[in-house]
Amino acid sequence: MLRRFLPNLTCLFCCQYSASAVCRYCQYDTVFFHHPDKPPNLLLRPEVARNIKHSAIDGLYAIGPYQWPLNQLILRLKSSRDMVPADILTKWFSQMLGDTPLPEILLPVPITYWRYYQRRYNQASELASLLGQRLNVPMHTQWAKRKSAKQQTGLNRQQRLQNLRQAYKVTQALPYRHIAIIDDVITTGCTVDVLARQLRQRHPRIKIDIWAMAVTLAPTSKRA
Ligand SMILES: [Zn+2]
Repeated sequence: MLRRFLPNLTCLFCCQYSASAVCRYCQYDTVFFHHPDKPPNLLLRPEVARNIKHSAIDGLYAIGPYQWPLNQLILRLKSSRDMVPADILTKWFSQMLGDTPLPEILLPVPITYWRYYQRRYNQASELASLLGQRLNVPMHTQWAKRKSAKQQTGLNRQQRLQNLRQAYKVTQALPYRHIAIIDDVITTGCTVDVLARQLRQRHPRIKIDIWAMAVTLAPTSKRA
């Protein structure tokens, strides 16, 4: 708690003296997707896009691959209500965006009521809230629902996908031209693509971006 008010004196990762939560050496060792010669939209980079389902998605933006230290920051964000990781992640994400056109609204991926009841916390909403404050974009949390999924055991791939499709439901019309769905990590893209497809059915011309803090890369393409 006090950490929010006191100046940082040690780096979160190497415990050396640092005025910020991540020291410049650890930040230097972090792999960022940002590259001056590459498009910030990761769907335009085959090494990332080929592993991510994106049948209804226009843009995918993330800070970097899901590896140290982003994975540590995200695990910390999920396991505690410590806001330091969310603060660092949203700062790096906002810097990475540069002059990328901003959406009109931020839509965090919903979690089940049961999960929320257990944790009292949805990390995607916390990220969306902080990003909204940094970038001056409103967020909307009641746009979709997540039902408890049926057991995946014994189901084939097609049935598992069907199960996932039924687990999420966009519950409201969204009168926007450009939105961003917020999640902490994108691994296969299946979840956000299910939500994006439902949005696309209701609003065929809407521009749908995905904002994630990290993307899991296939083992052969570790470097962005
Ligand atoms: Zn450090």
